[in-house]
Amino acid sequence: MHETADVVVIGAGVNGASLAYHLALLGVRRVLVLEKKVAATGATGLSSGLVRMHYTNEVEASLALSSYAYFRNWADMIGGECGFTETGFIRTVAPRNTEKLRANVAMLQGIGVETYLITPGELHDLAPNIWAEDILLAAYEPHSGYADPTATTLSLLDAARQRGVQLRQHVEVQGFLTKGERILGVQTSEGVIEAGTVACATGGWTMELLQKLGLKFPVWNIRHQVAILRRPGEAQADHMTYIDGVLDVYYRPDSPGLTLVGGGAMIFAVSADLHPLLGPVPGYENLYAIFGCNGTGFKTAPAVGKALAEQITGASEPEIPITSLRPARYFEQATIHDPNGYSDRPQEHTEPPQ
Ligand SMILES: Cc1cc2nc3c(=O)[nH]c(=O)nc-3n(C[C@H](O)[C@H](O)[C@H](O)COP(=O)(O)OP(=O)(O)OC[C@H]3O[C@@H](n4cnc5c(N)ncnc54)[C@H](O)[C@@H]3O)c2cc1C
Repeated sequence: MHETADVVVIGAGVNGASLAYHLALLGVRRVLVLEKKVAATGATGLSSGLVRMHYTNEVEASLALSSYAYFRNWADMIGGECGFTETGFIRTVAPRNTEKLRANVAMLQGIGVETYLITPGELHDLAPNIWAEDILLAAYEPHSGYADPTATTLSLLDAARQRGVQLRQHVEVQGFLTKGERILGVQTSEGVIEAGTVACATGGWTMELLQKLGLKFPVWNIRHQVAILRRPGEAQADHMTYIDGVLDVYYRPDSPGLTLVGGGAMIFAVSADLHPLLGPVPGYENLYAIFGCNGTGFKTAPAVGKALAEQITGASEPEIPITSLRPARYFEQATIHDPNGYSDRPQEHTEPPQ
């Protein structure tokens, strides 16, 4: 006899862990997480872990704001540790994007994010080591920072398992069993598992997996580089977390005396309109996915897992409606245009960005 589950979650990165936890919280009984390696060894385990709310569109900012409440209250909401460290967060942009920064801070304040516009002089007072001569304004979030992506994922998985979720590691999903528009289950390296619903939380592997169903999405994996630098003797004090939109680099403190630097215009799993794909996979009534997170999917994972769990269980009043992020938007000429985005990339790619 085949094994059966109500929901099979493929992938035990931070998004799969969050989804499994929230499904259990919403009362789904048999949730099975399948991971081809071990938990948190995909993008999650390499993530820089920045936790901030400065987004240039309301839906992702709302997901980040809702997730921030988890990071701040982790022990009470999830239990265990997520390693959240409050450093304060600065976002600068090139002078040509100053009006967009102003509009975005107003939008963020409107949804309840604690953020302010500050002048270069105020930035200098807050963070004397930041070069502020080439900007006109900066956005400041006094209580943002970074968290530990591996600890976050493992504690979500622990909390999920306490609610009956099963995690199976070293089990690879190799394909889907289908009947018409229904997914009947998954073919794994250890045999067939029947499933009421299947959710792909497979990060940069999702495109390959969905191609097995003939589905092709404009999402591409791109290398993103991170370095750890030792600060000079006169700069030993910890500093703020900082995204520098002039040089297109970010920084956060790491172990004492060390700074993590990430950079380049290149990010992991970029989607054509630079927004994540969350929700039902078109063509199948019981298949869902989370992917194309554009290098920013750690900080939103708590709320994304909740929002997708609400969709799967058919919650009538979701906390954050995510339908605008549905994967089907690529087949419906409904991709998202972000008028206040800072990227110089064209909003619509039909080929992998170079
Ligand atoms: C260097 C770097 C820095 C980043 N910095 C930040 C940051 O500062 N802040 C932020 O918010 N985001 C950041 N991100 C992005 C963030 O880390 C990712 O968006 C997020 O971790 C994605 O999580 P996930 O669970 O969707 O995917 P993943 O963590 O990639 O997990 C997918 C899992 O699925 C498993 N899997 C794949 N295929 C199969 C299969 N067929 N069968 C079974 N299992 C399978 C994989 O083994 C993997 O464990 C960064 C990413 C990188 C790479």
